[in-house]
Amino acid sequence: MSLDQELSIAKEAVRKASLLCSAAQRGLVDAEKHDKDDKSPVTVADYGAQAIVLSTLAKAFPSDPAVGEEDSSDLRKEENGELFARVVEYAQKIDSSLDSDSVLAAIDRGSHGGGAAGRFWTLDPIDGTKGFLRGEQYAVALALIEDGEVVLGVLGCPNLPVDPANPDSEKGCILFAVKGQGAFQAPLSDISAAVSISTDSVSDPAQAVFCESVESGHTAHGRSAEISEALGTSVEPFRMDSQCKYAAVSRGQASVYLRLPTRPGYEEKIWDHAAGYIVLLEAGGRIADTFGQSLDFSIGRTLKNNKGIVATSPAVFESVVKAVVASGR
Ligand code: AMP
Ligand code: MG
Repeated sequence: MSLDQELSIAKEAVRKASLLCSAAQRGLVDAEKHDKDDKSPVTVADYGAQAIVLSTLAKAFPSDPAVGEEDSSDLRKEENGELFARVVEYAQKIDSSLDSDSVLAAIDRGSHGGGAAGRFWTLDPIDGTKGFLRGEQYAVALALIEDGEVVLGVLGCPNLPVDPANPDSEKGCILFAVKGQGAFQAPLSDISAAVSISTDSVSDPAQAVFCESVESGHTAHGRSAEISEALGTSVEPFRMDSQCKYAAVSRGQASVYLRLPTRPGYEEKIWDHAAGYIVLLEAGGRIADTFGQSLDFSIGRTLKNNKGIVATSPAVFESVVKAVVASGR
């Protein structure tokens, strides 16, 4: 079955949400920061982007459920009235048909439990909130999962340079892929100008460029240094927030993305990986967890059958997985 309509709506939804996020990042003030119960910073833009994407999907595909990172419970609290008003204001700048009720309803469309049956979307409205708050990299990540398989993914990366070889080039990219159809990138300023992207052909792991999270709480920096040393790599890894790391490997800017568990009980969230996963696979890359197991998107809102992530260009995959497994403890 063709997913042309799904892709076109998903790209437009991510483009609009990326615009909202860029506007919010420019206007970031303390009033827009707010601590969720888990203390992760969340801003007006997380809620606004989720409202834009899920209301856009609801119009085109009313019976499709969604697994989204945010829910509206905090926004509905009286003490967050000012934040809520800002969310509605930002959302209305992008879509003037939205009002307070439709913003809340759209955000709450993200409460689906996931699983193996049927199809659903999964959304991280701002992946890499900490990068967003630092004025650095973040991504709007949207994917479609059918019968437990990721079949479509779109990554909006508002601060990522369009030309990987030139950090001063225009910023703002959209990357997208449909299963079996390859991976593409376009500037966010003209999403119709897409070019095919592919992973690099580095075959000697000693030459591989590694990337990883900025946050030491999200990946074990020390273990990745041991792994790259064991593989003979002398180049420092580059650190970047969000699924922009999948974008970097997918377009040949890095060969390896490692995400190594920092604590035993953590379960990776499907919205943190689904879009990047399909873009990477369609760009020619390979991916597994830190035990070399395939990722299982069919069991709910988390990847609870997996631990960590090893995402690479194809030629170095076997040797990197082997080194990661050997470093396990
Ligand atoms: P990154 O920008 O790659 O550091 O990843 C950001 C994502 O890390 C957030 O969306 C969180 O869902 C996720 N995260 C939060 N805590 C952890 C943890 N302990 N281990 C791995 N990922 C985490
Ligand atoms: Mg995230």
